[in-house]
Amino acid sequence: MKHSVAASLATLAATAIARSNPHQCAALATDTQLQGKVLLPNTAAYNAEVDTYYSANAAQHAWCMVLPESTADVQATVKILAKDQCPFGIKAGGHSAWKGSNSIANGVTVDFGYMNTTSYNPDTGIASIQPGARWGSVYEFVDPYNVTVVGARTSVVGVGGFTTGGGYSFHSNSHGFACDNVVNWEIVLADSSVVNANASTNPDLWKAQKGGSGNLGFVTRIDQQTVEGTQLWGGFTSYNLSETDNVFNAYLDFVENTQENSPDQTIIALYYDYTGFSIRSILTNNEGIANAPAFDGFLALPNISSTLTVGPEAEIIPQFTGPTPLGLYANWFTGMATNSFEALSIINKLHPEYVAKMVAAAPTSNFSTLIEFQPVTNTMVQNSDKRGGNILGLEPIVADGPVLMWLVALTVDTEENQAVILPIAHEFVAAINQNLQEAGRFVNWAYLNYAWGNEKPYSHYGQANLDLLTAVSYKYDPNGVFQKLRQTGFKFS
Ligand SMILES: Cc1cc2nc3c(=O)[nH]c(=O)nc-3n(C[C@H](O)[C@H](O)[C@H](O)COP(=O)(O)OP(=O)(O)OC[C@H]3O[C@@H](n4cnc5c(N)ncnc54)[C@H](O)[C@@H]3O)c2cc1C
Repeated sequence: MKHSVAASLATLAATAIARSNPHQCAALATDTQLQGKVLLPNTAAYNAEVDTYYSANAAQHAWCMVLPESTADVQATVKILAKDQCPFGIKAGGHSAWKGSNSIANGVTVDFGYMNTTSYNPDTGIASIQPGARWGSVYEFVDPYNVTVVGARTSVVGVGGFTTGGGYSFHSNSHGFACDNVVNWEIVLADSSVVNANASTNPDLWKAQKGGSGNLGFVTRIDQQTVEGTQLWGGFTSYNLSETDNVFNAYLDFVENTQENSPDQTIIALYYDYTGFSIRSILTNNEGIANAPAFDGFLALPNISSTLTVGPEAEIIPQFTGPTPLGLYANWFTGMATNSFEALSIINKLHPEYVAKMVAAAPTSNFSTLIEFQPVTNTMVQNSDKRGGNILGLEPIVADGPVLMWLVALTVDTEENQAVILPIAHEFVAAINQNLQEAGRFVNWAYLNYAWGNEKPYSHYGQANLDLLTAVSYKYDPNGVFQKLRQTGFKFS
């Protein structure tokens, strides 16, 4: 009897090890190219990597993680993953929030965290950036050359996910999305070959990767055209809630009057935490010009506080970033509406109703809701097209004028509170869409980089773009490795 109990325990233990560390991890860990680059569970290095995820939802425990240090390492990795039919996930900066966006529980996470360097060629003005870099490090690296990049508006965000998903920047009115400024992608394909994709070599792959996220291969280097000058004027301005309608009107006027290639941009945001509700704007000018006339409507309003200042992006963008604590339960949802007072008012009215439901469901939770409104303008889309175009499908969306992109970001303190608050956030999002539809203010588009796992961004990007993405996937990944084995992020299929 004793013997059989011991035997069963041994079998259970062996099964547990096999489950947590299957043969694919052994193949990766013993590959000569990858030695020392595979992290196994229950090690300090593995646990430290799990802690680098922005949202606790996303930080799943993979069978093992591969942290490539070079393109050759990525080639060795994909060879084993494809041969062994191993499910895998892709992580760069780890800032996508939903479970399954960038890590995998039953498979191997390929984590680009160690491929994080930037180089710059002053002759061409091109910055070559590895996908695991954070934007803050890129701004700092190129700053001494008096150039900047079309990157994220917070310094902690990763280059890989941001750029392959689009990338809305402080330079978007004047330069389009981050992906539009990529003059060359270096990509490791499913067959482990390395290709460059640019306007003359593999141009179909170049375009499809501008929004293609993880559908086509592992992006190992991003060559981005830089922008001259580093100075950014901008900051947060907080207003009394009684000014809400005036802030909305200032925003709508600003957006309607956006000039071609404008250096000026704005975001307005509604916020709730345990201290109450608030409203603020983020005004920026990417030429470092203070108080440009486009902001007159905002600047005329009385404010509670303002951090507007001018300085190099390498210094100003970390100030915008503020504390973005890791390990909380962050959840992002997005959608689109007409650029209208009615659309803003609908969301503003629903916000406190659903916050009240959240408070009632989890009275002790320290949660916050942030609702950001930012425009997609005609000049942004023209700047995308001028640079070769992307697959976001925004041309018909802005055909009648600029539109309003909304983002709901819910951040919850604990898993238990998240379990009761998240369903209410889903109801809130459904109510936003329903009310916008009933008012004739709904626009059928969702931005991949802000979308929750169920939002299917590719279904909004238009048939021609979907056809391109599908054709490029069949051409460069005929066995569908990045459709079948890749389990993270959004698939077009
Ligand atoms: C605080 C904060 C601020 C943000 N600010 C902005 C902003 O200003 N503008 C904006 O547009 N978005 C912004 N975002 C959203 C952001 O663009 C996305 O979360 C983006 O995915 C983050 O990039 P990442 O490298 O951290 O992605 P990860 O979460 O690591 O990866 C997301 C997905 O990207 C794909 N991917 C990543 N690396 C590669 C690669 N090497 N090859 C192929 N596919 C890859 C994969 O499909 C992966 O599943 C912000 C997010 C946060 C949390």
